[in-house]
Amino acid sequence: MSQQIIIPKCDFCGKEEAIFGQAYKCRTYRSRVIPLAADMIDAWVACDECERFVENGDWLALAHYCARQIKTTKMSYIEKVALILNIHKEFREHRI
Ligand SMILES: [Zn+2]
Repeated sequence: MSQQIIIPKCDFCGKEEAIFGQAYKCRTYRSRVIPLAADMIDAWVACDECERFVENGDWLALAHYCARQIKTTKMSYIEKVALILNIHKEFREHRI
């Protein structure tokens, strides 16, 4: 029987990282921006890069960074940035 190893992912950019420096506590909420998503529970973890943007309050730079990390062909780059900005706005509204 093999043991499953779960590698945590950054909740901002989706990057897999073994160790995270920062977890941002938030209230449980259901996203209005991404209605099919599961409830956001307890906390968002951030990789080193995303933590730096969050700590500086540089949300536009964070959105651009995440848009470059998240690979999808379904949206243009600008659409991704706009969606990510809205997702992060919800996070800030529920952050404790
Ligand atoms: Zn990240």
